[in-house]
Amino acid sequence: MGKITLDKVTKSFGEVEVIPPLNLTIEDGEFCVFVGPSGCGKSTLLRMIAGLEDITSGSIRIDGADASKVPPAKRGLAMVFQSYALYPHMSVRKNIAFPMRMAGLSQEEQARRIEAAAKALNLTDYLDRRPGQLSGGQRQRVAIGRAIVREPAAFLFDEPLSNLDAALRVGMRLEISELHERLKTTMIYVTHDQVEAMTMADKIVVLRAGHIEQVGTPLELYHSPRNLFVAGFIGSPKMNLIEGDEAAKHDAHTIGVRPEHIDMSEDGPWQGVVGVAEHLGSDTFLHVHGTGLAETLTVRATGEVAVRHGDEVKLKPRADQIHRFDTSGLRVA
Ligand code: ADP
Ligand code: MG
Repeated sequence: MGKITLDKVTKSFGEVEVIPPLNLTIEDGEFCVFVGPSGCGKSTLLRMIAGLEDITSGSIRIDGADASKVPPAKRGLAMVFQSYALYPHMSVRKNIAFPMRMAGLSQEEQARRIEAAAKALNLTDYLDRRPGQLSGGQRQRVAIGRAIVREPAAFLFDEPLSNLDAALRVGMRLEISELHERLKTTMIYVTHDQVEAMTMADKIVVLRAGHIEQVGTPLELYHSPRNLFVAGFIGSPKMNLIEGDEAAKHDAHTIGVRPEHIDMSEDGPWQGVVGVAEHLGSDTFLHVHGTGLAETLTVRATGEVAVRHGDEVKLKPRADQIHRFDTSGLRVA
């Protein structure tokens, strides 16, 4: 079981409050992602759950029991860091076994768990190697293996893929998602990468300056961002934000339209000139200037579109995909 509840949790470093009172429940078995820009408090929050950082006030409960004062090793949680922190002189097998040796598990039990973890992570053939003889992705898997054998109530990941190159990151992202499907253990995963958040999470917690801006499923955040911050943070390329007369027509201070919700159309009310056209094959991204609406409007067309720099285009936003925000940046219902 791994239900984690934060109740009015705060954190101050000296005089500086980096987490104002925060409430959050992570359900048992959930894949919960904390996402937000660098410095917003993601790691601090995760480290408080792990017990590596004291909370200043409030409480943390794990499966109903107050864990606020419980030392990290007794919380039944396993943390996986960005730096793998493997022992270079030990084999993969010994690295994975390490926490079990510390806990004094029997040799048979250790062997059973190592075998299961190695199988789950495709490491069976590498158990006798040393970390130096493995690729970055394999090392990350060993670090995860060392967490799995502890059979934790929850896994805590702090930007575990940031050190990997782009292709490997996509692969590991899928592996971690599959691992969650198989183990069904609670996972809390910290990242600044909204694509990781969108692709992996059951539940996303968007943080800014220690505040929760919104909690929801990936598609809830995509379809109904609660404010301009979430609207701009979730989705790639970013949502276009338009102020002035055009927004006033919709009874809003700002309207937002995602690039994929603007079509090129002869009867389009918006006109501009293509600055850059990015041809990806699968999609074409147009960066359009001179519309009088925003400095640049980004438009995403599916597939190959024969449009080049300097072309004039007419654009039509999809009427049912216009997000409206008030003067304080809050979504208008
Ligand atoms: P994130 O992981 O989202 O990038 P952090 O949780 O690391 O953010 O940091 C949140 C804020 O807390 C930052 O402003 C950071 O400078 C501050 N902070 C983190 N750790 C400490 C510390 N040990 N002492 C003082 N300030 C800290
Ligand atoms: Mg961090």
